[in-house]
Amino acid sequence: MRVLVVEDERKTAAFVRKALQSEGWTVEVLDHGDTVLPLLATTHFDALVLDIMLPGCDGLTVVRQMRLRQMKTPVLLLTARGEVGERVEGLNAGADDYLAKPFALAELVARVRALGRRVTEPAATTLHLADLSLDTIHHRAERAGQPIELAPREYRLLEFLLRSSGRVCARRAIVEGVWDYDFDPGTNLVDVYVMRLREKIDAGFATQLLHTVRGIGYVLKEPSP
Ligand code: CA
Repeated sequence: MRVLVVEDERKTAAFVRKALQSEGWTVEVLDHGDTVLPLLATTHFDALVLDIMLPGCDGLTVVRQMRLRQMKTPVLLLTARGEVGERVEGLNAGADDYLAKPFALAELVARVRALGRRVTEPAATTLHLADLSLDTIHHRAERAGQPIELAPREYRLLEFLLRSSGRVCARRAIVEGVWDYDFDPGTNLVDVYVMRLREKIDAGFATQLLHTVRGIGYVLKEPSP
């Protein structure tokens, strides 16, 4: 796996590089925001670890620019501790995951591994629930004939919930199924994504499909008659 790390704090960058290299991965480190897009345009990476606070172009802008240019490299954003707004903004910008500083290197490694893991193509083609449909070949979602734009992780979350539709999915199961973590990340990651997904598939429609099961998790189900 090839990982690009963008971090201007030299000590942090050195620790991260060492931890990722000890997994047998190839690691490149950049320390300036302006150098990221030119490198991504010419070199393939399986994952990008991106600090938000950078000289030049900041991390959030880098992600936004990447997604605008259809660069699909999965991004793990490093955020300042406790900056919830920054994390939500990061996910909205198109990041796939975030990790608050200071972090444990083992957790960083686990998350990078999850990002780089290849998704095996599912056999089923289109999943349906009421007037919601998901084409798993072309990754297209529609509700009542209206296309829904989904970020890659939102797509995986929707596919996961649709494949379990009618059954309650615990947060832990969602974390394992959608993020490939085999541990609890101990954040509100799932809730943030469900909120975003709900905004996209349910907002503006008379019937709600994505329901919260208090204290347990979430379920996608047909509206009761
Ligand atoms: Ca920094």
